[in-house]
Amino acid sequence: MPGSAEDRPVSTPAGSTSTPAPVARRRARWWWIVAIVVLLLGAAVVVAGLLEHRAWVRTVAEYDAEVARVTDEAKNARDRAEDAYAASVDALDETIDDGRSVRAASKGQVADRGIRKPLAAALDDAEQLRDTEVTYPVVTRTVDEVVRPNPFRPDVLPQVEHDVVGGSDPAPADLDAAVDDVAEASAAVAESRRQWALDELAPATAEGRDALTDLSDQVGARALGPLEEAVTDAEAILDAGTDAVDPDETVALRDLLLDTTESVWADRLADIRTERRQAARARGVDCRKDKCVALTFDDGPVPDTERLLRILDRKNAPATFFMVGDNVAARPGIARAVVERGHLVANHTWNHPQLTTLDDGEVRDELRRTQDAITDATGFTPFLLRPPYGAVDGNVRTLATRTGLDIVLWNLDSDDWGTRDPKKIRRHVRAEVQRGSNVLLHDLHPTTVDAVPKIINDLRKEDYVLVTVDLLVAAGGS
Ligand SMILES: [Zn+2]
Repeated sequence: MPGSAEDRPVSTPAGSTSTPAPVARRRARWWWIVAIVVLLLGAAVVVAGLLEHRAWVRTVAEYDAEVARVTDEAKNARDRAEDAYAASVDALDETIDDGRSVRAASKGQVADRGIRKPLAAALDDAEQLRDTEVTYPVVTRTVDEVVRPNPFRPDVLPQVEHDVVGGSDPAPADLDAAVDDVAEASAAVAESRRQWALDELAPATAEGRDALTDLSDQVGARALGPLEEAVTDAEAILDAGTDAVDPDETVALRDLLLDTTESVWADRLADIRTERRQAARARGVDCRKDKCVALTFDDGPVPDTERLLRILDRKNAPATFFMVGDNVAARPGIARAVVERGHLVANHTWNHPQLTTLDDGEVRDELRRTQDAITDATGFTPFLLRPPYGAVDGNVRTLATRTGLDIVLWNLDSDDWGTRDPKKIRRHVRAEVQRGSNVLLHDLHPTTVDAVPKIINDLRKEDYVLVTVDLLVAAGGS
């Protein structure tokens, strides 16, 4: 019920008797607040102090570690610097030796100066660096002073200084860079040298392969075995390509190929000569006893060669024709007629250069093309070469042998190319001829062809026996 006794007595007596009580209570409340604030502040101070302490402990640990590191460095830096320098200088020394040997081996092989020059420069730099006297400069390492920022617990970690070997001069990094430079330049030279070796091997392999083809039906398989093996090895290397090449082995194989090709052909050429001399003796011609003379005609075949053939036919006189390959290709029918009449056809190069002025590849080309042209035209493969102008040296001789050709010059120059006069040519030959004469003539000049009938008559009157040039005992001449 509203307005009951319980509502009123509570408020009225209480209101009158507790007038001082709310003030005290309010004051107490304030004290509580102050106390709580003080407590909170205190807690904050404690937490801040703890955090500061932890940070300081960390700072001290770092400082101590740094001091320990610098102290340790001061103790061991010299040893470490010496070890580092020694390792780098050893590597450099080794690289210099390698670079030197690559450079020495490439001499006369790698012609490109743009490849050899950088190696020379890198080696010079590297040697200079290696020979520089090494020093170990000392530097001062400082660990800075640290001041504790806490005003309640001030503290200072003092600055520490140590003299320390800071490394070497020259520095290992400089030596390492020199190693890289030499190695890079060496690699370029070595690569170039491998390519050179392959370029050397290729023509030798082709020569060997040609010899195998040329000789396969003339020489037993046993005699060709070593050459066959060398060619097979060489072809495997050529197929494998540059990266797999060992230049020294490749060059050795090239030399083996060249030597083997040369010796197989030299044997075969000696056999050809023997066989032909035996066949001549069977026909009653023996230049060890007979007064043999060989008429040789150079520079054809030309149209006038046919007239010469008719003369020789009429006189039943054998002759030797040193043909120019270019002319054979132009007049294969005349070349074939020469062989069919029983004369000897020989190689006089493709287009009549002075062989001693050409490089090996060009000489090979001159000889090989002519061999092929004559074989194609006549079915006969020459085994004699007369180098134009008689220009020959050891190298041309070797190249000729490896192409299956013996060199034959002359020992009686009719001077037909100079006089161009049949009477003078005839007189000259008659005056100079002797047993074993190898007479130089040219079917190229009509005046020479005009002189031939009388030259033959003269020789026969003197009991000379006309033979092909290979039958002369001293066929080489001067
Ligand atoms: Zn000539």
